[in-house]
Amino acid sequence: MKVISILGSTGSIGTQTLDIVAQYPDQFQAIALAAGNNIELLAKQIRQFKPEIAATYYEEKLPELRAAIADLENPPIILAGAEGVAEVARYSKSQTVVTGIVGYAGLLPTIAAIEAGKDIALANKETLIAAGPVVLPLIEKHGVKLLPADSEHSAIFQCLQGVPEGGLRRIILTASGGAFRDLPAEKLSTVKVADALKHPNWSMGQKITIDSATLMNKGLEVIEAHYLFGLDYDRIDIVIHPQSIIHSLIEVQDTSVLAQLGWPDMRLPLLYSLSWPERIRTDWEQLDLVKSGNLTFKEPDRQKYPCMELAYAAGRAGGCMPAILNAANEEAVALFLAEKIGFLDIPRIIEKVCDRLSSQNKTNPALEDIVAADRQARQTSLQVNRELDSQGQLFCV
Ligand code: MG
Repeated sequence: MKVISILGSTGSIGTQTLDIVAQYPDQFQAIALAAGNNIELLAKQIRQFKPEIAATYYEEKLPELRAAIADLENPPIILAGAEGVAEVARYSKSQTVVTGIVGYAGLLPTIAAIEAGKDIALANKETLIAAGPVVLPLIEKHGVKLLPADSEHSAIFQCLQGVPEGGLRRIILTASGGAFRDLPAEKLSTVKVADALKHPNWSMGQKITIDSATLMNKGLEVIEAHYLFGLDYDRIDIVIHPQSIIHSLIEVQDTSVLAQLGWPDMRLPLLYSLSWPERIRTDWEQLDLVKSGNLTFKEPDRQKYPCMELAYAAGRAGGCMPAILNAANEEAVALFLAEKIGFLDIPRIIEKVCDRLSSQNKTNPALEDIVAADRQARQTSLQVNRELDSQGQLFCV
C-alpha cells in the first residue's frame, strides 16, 4: 500500500490520480488533498476518499469547505492558504506527493514536500523548469526520488530502466503537434481560444493545452528533460508524431533506440510514477498496433512555432532564464485565455521579456533569486503587453 498526497486534487492530474486510487484501493491511499477554488468537487473527494487532511489554497473558501462537509462524522483536518497547502505537502503519513498544481504556483509546496522527505510524482513541470538549480540539490540533500509523471519523461524514465550509468546518448521527445498542426501558418493570427483548446489526442487542463498548441509545452519539456536526465541541450531533440502512440525515445551509446508506447492516457505515466519500480497489472485497454495504424514522424516547423527555440535558448542560458521564460509564458497564456491578445502574441511577449531581462540573469540562483526573477518577468510581461497594445502592434481578438 502506498500512501499519497495530491496537490491540485480537483484538476486534470488530480482527478486522474484519484481515478487510479479508486480503481486500485489495495495499492493506493489518498491521505491528503489540496485544491484551489473548486470546493464542490473537493468536498465530494473528501466524502469518497476520506483523507485525513485537506486544504484549499483560497482562505476565503474555508467557510464554504467547512459547510460542505459539516455533516461528516469524522471530518479531515481542514486548512487553507499557501501554508495549508504546504501542510498537505508535508503531511507526516504520506510517502509520495503528486504535484498536479498548474504552473509556478506548484513550486513552494513541492519544495515543502521535498524538505519533509517525500518522494515526488512530478506532474507539474513548471516547478523544475523555473527552479531546477534549486530543486535538484534539494532532492539530493533530502535523499528523495523525483519520479516523472509527464508522459514523455515517464517514457524516457521507463526506457532508462536497465540502461547503465552513462549509457544515455540522446533523448527524442515526441510531440503531437497540438491543435494547429494542420493549419497553415498564415491562419494562426486569427485563431480563437476555443480552437486552441481542442487538443487532438490528449485530455489535459487549459494551460497545458494552449502550451501544446504553441509547442511551448515541448520547449518546456526539453528543459524538464535536461534537468531530469542531465543531458546537454544539443542531445535533446523534438520530433512531431501526430498519433501520440510513441511517448518518447532514447538513444543509447551504441545507437540502439528504445521507445515506450501506449494509448495517449495520462493515467499510465501517473500510475508508473506511483508504482515504480513495480508494475501494477491493470485492465486498461491494451495497445493494438494494427488498430493504432500508421505511425508517422516529421520535423517540427520552427518558423511556425517560435516558442520551441525560445525555450532552447532560455535552457542554454540557464540560471534564472528558464524561470523568466516560464513566467512570461504563463502571463501570455493567461492573457490569451482572457481573449486580451492573439495567439501569435504569445511568443512575441515571451521573446521581448526574455530579451529585456537576459542581462540580469544569475548563473547560480538561490530560491530568492528565482522568486524575484519570476515576479519581475510577470511585471515585464504585462508592461510589454501594454506597450505593444498602445503601439497597435498586437492583433486583438
Ligand atoms: Mg508531456
